[in-house]
Amino acid sequence: MDEEQIREGIVYLVGAGPGDPGLLTLKARSLIETCDVLVFDHLANRRLHDWASPECERIDVGKSPGRHTMEQSEIGEILVQKAKDGLRVVRLKGGDPFVFGRCAEEMLTLDKAGITYEVVPGVTAALACAAYAGIPLSHRDFGSSISFLTGHEDVAKESLRVNFSKFAEVGGTLCIYMGMSKMEEIVDKLIAGGLPEDRPAAIVSHGTLPRQQKVLAPLKDLVSRAKEEQLGAPAIIFVGNSIGLARSATWFEQKPLHGRRFALTRASGQQSKMREALEAQGAEVLELPLIKVEPSEDRTLIAEVMAGIATYEWVVFTSANGAREFMKLFFRAFADIRSFGPMRIACVGNSTAEVFQALQLNVELIAKDSTAEGMAKELVATDSLDSANVLVVSGNRNREIMVDILEGVGRAIVDTLPVYETDFSDVLDAPDFEKFKKEGADAIIFTSSSTALSYVEQSDDIVLEENARLPMLCSFGPQTTSTLEENEMIVGLESSHPSIEGLTYSLIEHFSGPSPCQH
Ligand code: SAH
Repeated sequence: MDEEQIREGIVYLVGAGPGDPGLLTLKARSLIETCDVLVFDHLANRRLHDWASPECERIDVGKSPGRHTMEQSEIGEILVQKAKDGLRVVRLKGGDPFVFGRCAEEMLTLDKAGITYEVVPGVTAALACAAYAGIPLSHRDFGSSISFLTGHEDVAKESLRVNFSKFAEVGGTLCIYMGMSKMEEIVDKLIAGGLPEDRPAAIVSHGTLPRQQKVLAPLKDLVSRAKEEQLGAPAIIFVGNSIGLARSATWFEQKPLHGRRFALTRASGQQSKMREALEAQGAEVLELPLIKVEPSEDRTLIAEVMAGIATYEWVVFTSANGAREFMKLFFRAFADIRSFGPMRIACVGNSTAEVFQALQLNVELIAKDSTAEGMAKELVATDSLDSANVLVVSGNRNREIMVDILEGVGRAIVDTLPVYETDFSDVLDAPDFEKFKKEGADAIIFTSSSTALSYVEQSDDIVLEENARLPMLCSFGPQTTSTLEENEMIVGLESSHPSIEGLTYSLIEHFSGPSPCQH
């Protein structure tokens, strides 16, 4: 193989699994992380895009508001063109690429164009739904075949392609993809073909996702039960005797926040930990950033502060974000951590302190109260501020009160270094705004007064559709609660402690139990 060939483009047709990002193969993950172009549609979970590098070109070939799904031939052309440009292309396909995924067409197009490609299998929806919904697909006493069928092969095609009455004769376990719009017809044909009316059946919709729902019912009642529970696509219909052994609620469905939906308002770069904590408890999380945090660089001021860094007795950090930005600036000025000097470090909370602890720097004070005022009082209580040089590293908000207390009560000499700016961000640009408008949420979570103020300012734009769930306003702590209340908003829930653990605990206390009718 010569160098020219090594640099040739390649297409990977990659199974993206049924929804839960944890169900991707290691190979799929590493290809997403290293590809130059990511081609996806709505069946592949959006979270997977976060694994791609910032430089990776992302191409959405699925349906989005105001645009129809791209023709198969257009998708093929994109894959061919990008590979010809010498790029590594990952084409993500929901579930497994070869199971009703139209991968064959894309493969033929690539073959014809002489493009190198590889196929990476994925966990197909039927297997994943069965596992997460506790539905065994086989049992040695019942039948010995498992069939994957499709209600219609193509969303555009109206008629059933599979002869369902024939499959009634095959028996065993039937797993029917894309069957929801033809559910009645399918069930009628199976019964007409000889399947007993009381043959166990099930439907799992949105399998492996926080909004997974299922019904278990004898075949004759399946359609009415599915309608009652408002189950919609994407869903798998299961029919067969082993389905009768299904669990009514699984580990997945019993997570305390399963079926709940929460909107997070903090800046987009700062959502992941909170999102992961809530998702681990089974919740669906919508990203609705209402503020943006950007580094603010007053170069002269930074240079002055860094030149005199060793003269401070205390350096105070009011947020993890500020701490990280500060350390970035510090290492830009100095190559060696010893230049940090002998000052003591104070932080508002554990996540801020962790930035320093990771560098083996001792944090002398972690404030119990995370408000600027509380923090200042705890510092004054150390009785070490009189005539001391103190540097307050913060954003552009809520700084004055701390400086007033440190100077007025503590008699310290305070310098401030703003390292980032918080601004309102436009809710219309939020990644999940459309979804939020359409479906609403159980709660919208405000992590700071600035997120609350941004919400108040933009409330005219945040109008939910008729059937959306009306969210309760949930605040991270007392300061955020007062900001909301001062603006005539009703706070339904305040976190027991302004931390991710506190919030998760409070949400579980408040919301665990039967979830509302899902949509
Ligand atoms: N290649 C995919 C199937 C694509 S066809 C795979 O291997 O899973 C699309 C159909 O897959 C949907 O109509 C639905 O029947 C099923 N499906 C995909 N994701 C699903 C999910 N999370 N839960 C239930 N069914 C799903």
